Amino acid sequence: MVERRVVLHFPENLIDQPIVSRMVREFSLEFNILRANITPQQEGLMVLGLAGKRVDVDKALRWARQQGVSVQPLEKNVVRNESVCTHCGACVVVCPTAALWKDPETQDVIFDPDKCIACELCVPVCPPRAMEVAF
Ligand code: SF4
Ligand code: SF4
Repeated sequence: MVERRVVLHFPENLIDQPIVSRMVREFSLEFNILRANITPQQEGLMVLGLAGKRVDVDKALRWARQQGVSVQPLEKNVVRNESVCTHCGACVVVCPTAALWKDPETQDVIFDPDKCIACELCVPVCPPRAMEVAF
């Protein structure tokens, strides 16, 4: 039995397809949806925990890729260097999970690591390079 956390990106044409339910049913897996949302580009994004026999997890992920789903392991960690963040807000608009958001009262940009799926979209848009990827 293995447990694996993965990030699934669904293109627009697959958003309403029962991909995950077929994966878990056909490959006898247990699953836990850690995060799910639709990005502004109308792509579906899901962080999923999958548990089952190693061979079945591998087969399920291969099958998902064949359907057109992008599958990435959730192994990276994104951190913010607080000492250089200027709270400019450039990262807020690209973050697909609202892990980065602006506090309307203080105008500070808050980073919530628990919501972060390590997509790295915030890294290149940050002028002082405050968002860093740790492995
Ligand atoms: S883009 Fe960079 S500097 Fe601006 S708020 Fe986000 S982390 Fe801070
Ligand atoms: S890597 Fe950056 S843009 Fe992606 S979810 Fe985490 S905080 Fe948001």
